[in-house]
Amino acid sequence: MKILVFNCGSSSLKYQFIDMKDEKVIVRGLVDRIGMEDALFRYSKIETGKDTEVKKVQFIKDHEEAINLLIDALTKGDSSVIRNKSEITAVGHRIVHGGEKFSRAVLVDDKVKEDINECFELAPLHNPHNLKGVEICGKLLPGVPQIAVFDTAFHQTMPSEAYFYAIPYYFYEKYNIRRYGFHGSSYYYVSREAASMMKKKLKDLKIVACHLGNGASITAIKKGKSVDTSMGFTPLEGLVMGTRSGDIDPSIPLYLMDVDEISLGEIKSILNRQSGIYGLSGVGSDMRDVLKEAGKGDRRARLAVAVFVYRVKKYIGAYAAVMNGLDCLVFTAGIGENSPYIRDLCCRNMDYLGIEIDKKRNEKAVGTGNLISSEKSKVSVFTIPTNEELVIAREAKKILRKKTVFS
Ligand code: ADP
Repeated sequence: MKILVFNCGSSSLKYQFIDMKDEKVIVRGLVDRIGMEDALFRYSKIETGKDTEVKKVQFIKDHEEAINLLIDALTKGDSSVIRNKSEITAVGHRIVHGGEKFSRAVLVDDKVKEDINECFELAPLHNPHNLKGVEICGKLLPGVPQIAVFDTAFHQTMPSEAYFYAIPYYFYEKYNIRRYGFHGSSYYYVSREAASMMKKKLKDLKIVACHLGNGASITAIKKGKSVDTSMGFTPLEGLVMGTRSGDIDPSIPLYLMDVDEISLGEIKSILNRQSGIYGLSGVGSDMRDVLKEAGKGDRRARLAVAVFVYRVKKYIGAYAAVMNGLDCLVFTAGIGENSPYIRDLCCRNMDYLGIEIDKKRNEKAVGTGNLISSEKSKVSVFTIPTNEELVIAREAKKILRKKTVFS
């Protein structure tokens, strides 16, 4: 069983081709700047000892052309890994927003496409492109089952007190305004990995997982289920991110629109693209650059790091309260997996919660999953590289199995 995993964005397509026999990635790559003269097609065939890299810069008209190029690379010449496209068992798609309609992955049919379409308004920057990938695969790979895996699905277990905003109930009924949460596949993966590293059952664990990347969020996971998460109606709420503000007083945009006559469009851009680490530091949105400048003493870079870390700590404390305890803390994604410094800051002075980092373990932890807490620490702290693609492929496999059992 070989599964193609797609993450289709507005002008990009990230993909992996995974052999589910041993869950090995056979091919991974990216098509970027789709629609531009200098689009980039990257394709790596993973083989022990000698990976084959294809890198082309050329005009790629649209997503259909991008997927056609990928199918050609998979089936023809030195880059090929299969003889023809019938060897693609299924395609698993990352779909960002499943609203309240989807609490698990599903096999795509016309009704599912309609339902994804209905969630467009909830994620206008993501869902239309995700669905475009589904439509194109239907055309280019006829008969190949497609599975939709939703970022929001994992959080559908949140209790109503965690997902309701205290605004008139009517807005929930009319516009589905509530908290949804994102990064679900990542949380599903790391929570299960953490339990297996602790040699414990998920049902016995209270986990806080911090997905700290360009987009950042944090989730409370009790008995394997999401009970609260920091992103809300959109991925703007919660932690400080690369360019997103995270939590702010909702009066601020209103005030700015009033005193500075800033338009609605500008406000959206300010909160989504000009805030966060970027807006505070004035250095950029990349945490590595900001840490470098902070290290040289740059005041605003230091402030940005401090605000970022403070918000993470605040949520860890809140989620420990929500779950009445904490057994395990996980750091994942670009910053969480790669920055011992940020992890150390996030865990400092948290001994009242039973969190104690082992400095050496923390410094050494890169790559595969690592325990970074001390022997004395009551809470086990891990760095776990996330693997959303594998979750999507596993979900696809599960659904295909059921389909063959029941049909
Ligand atoms: P996304 O998938 O949300 O785009 P990633 O999970 O790839 O983001 O994370 C990107 C972030 O990780 C960037 O801010 C980058 O600076 C940060 N990052 C990567 N490596 C390191 C590192 N060694 N130290 C600090 N930050 C890092």
